[in-house]
Amino acid sequence: MTKFRTLDDLGDVTGKVALVRVDLNLPMQDGAVTDDTRVRAAAPTILELAEKGAKVLLLAHFGRPKGERVSTQSLSMVIDAVQDVLGKEVMFVPEIAGPVVEQTIGILRAGDIAILENTRFWKGEEKNDPELAKAIAANADIYVNDAFSAAHRAHATTEGLAHVLPAYAGRSMEAELKALEKALGQPDRPVAAVVGGAKVSSKLDVLTHLVTQVDHLIIGGGMANTFLAARGVNVGKSLCEHDLAATAEKILEAADQSGCTVHLPYDVVVAKEFAANPASLRTCNVHEVAADEMILDVGPQAVEALADVLKTCRTLVWNGPLGAFETQPFDAATVALARSAAALSKEGALVSVAGGGDTVAALNHAGVADDFTYISTAGGAFLEWMEGKELPGVKALEQA
Ligand code: ADP
Ligand code: MG
Repeated sequence: MTKFRTLDDLGDVTGKVALVRVDLNLPMQDGAVTDDTRVRAAAPTILELAEKGAKVLLLAHFGRPKGERVSTQSLSMVIDAVQDVLGKEVMFVPEIAGPVVEQTIGILRAGDIAILENTRFWKGEEKNDPELAKAIAANADIYVNDAFSAAHRAHATTEGLAHVLPAYAGRSMEAELKALEKALGQPDRPVAAVVGGAKVSSKLDVLTHLVTQVDHLIIGGGMANTFLAARGVNVGKSLCEHDLAATAEKILEAADQSGCTVHLPYDVVVAKEFAANPASLRTCNVHEVAADEMILDVGPQAVEALADVLKTCRTLVWNGPLGAFETQPFDAATVALARSAAALSKEGALVSVAGGGDTVAALNHAGVADDFTYISTAGGAFLEWMEGKELPGVKALEQA
């Protein structure tokens, strides 16, 4: 594994100033935080640095203020949620560099924590302006990046700072990179990938990369329809990107050449209207879908066969639900396969790594989130990693 420094490599940080990039882009409703998962993910790093006696300055972005101060996007709004999770008082600083930050550092005692303002209020953040990075770094001793979910962006506080300060991966960054490395970097074989979700067009690069990396590619969700249609199957009124037939064919050819077995559903759950438990619900062979029907889930026979495939595998990466899981009973295939994967993981037979906004929701719905080896909550960064891209925030840590 490529090397980067972690908190284990820190010397004495008592009284030193640590800039810690975290993900505080929290879901909010009416000015209140509705989900503090991201704060809980960053808490071990923040508290460890504080316990070691550092003065901890948190850096994060919130929303898309596009380089201007937008009062409704001030990070002061997340202070309460952060204090609740950390169980400690946290100071708010309405700047990210300059004399106000310098004065704050003078006031802070060893082990104190402060949140600096939304980094995206400054234009240099998204431009990765080295002058801004230098200004932010001016009053600090070390840089810790604990925001894997922002590592696909080369911004001043996600990438630039690693070049001007001694840089370290935080605990959550470290855990994420180790899990991802185990899943696609140096995986135990055979490797299976499940790719589902709505559209092929949103995951073309993922599919193209995975066919060269994995032994089994399981395609489900709406995107399976595009592949089935490309193979001459009549998918009726299903969500389907007919214009991508040639692309789908190319992916299947590339898989063939790399020795990757592609699994498409051979039975499916269909309905004439997209609603919970519709009267027209039925299960049929993919070749029996009527012109006025929609494929909304993978069928039970296919799921059983897929579970058998997983039994032969040592590693699984999963992005995208197999069906329209938000609506009953089109969650059945996703839930069943997720439970098979979870059971195998629990036995120690399978390393299972999953990620993606709807995927995490689906796995939570299946009640298996704790049994998977690792679940990434990083949306865009997780997908770019599945595309085989080097993430600038990670690369900068490795070079530092
Ligand atoms: P993720 O956020 O995990 O990357 P996506 O956003 O790509 O996943 O896809 C999730 C969406 O795909 C869900 O809203 C789900 O309802 C939808 N979906 C899955 N299968 C189908 C299907 N057969 N027809 C229509 N929508 C589907
Ligand atoms: Mg999604």
